[in-house]
Amino acid sequence: MSTSTFAHECETLIRERWARVCGDQPTEITISTQPPLVIGPYTQDGLRCPHGITYWLEPTGEQIAQWVRDGVE
Ligand SMILES: [Zn+2]
Repeated sequence: MSTSTFAHECETLIRERWARVCGDQPTEITISTQPPLVIGPYTQDGLRCPHGITYWLEPTGEQIAQWVRDGVE
């Protein structure tokens, strides 16, 4: 059983929830069911869907580069 590529519709649900959190400052993120190997400064806590699967949210490299350009802490 491979979980590395596992995804179901809750990824969409979590993306929608995240978009609401971000409001008018959308953040490009990757969503994974695997905890990140390294917890970075931008790593969000895992979000658990109703099926008990924890999703991990991380900004994309492009998003972090954008923040650096904009001087966002
Ligand atoms: Zn689910």
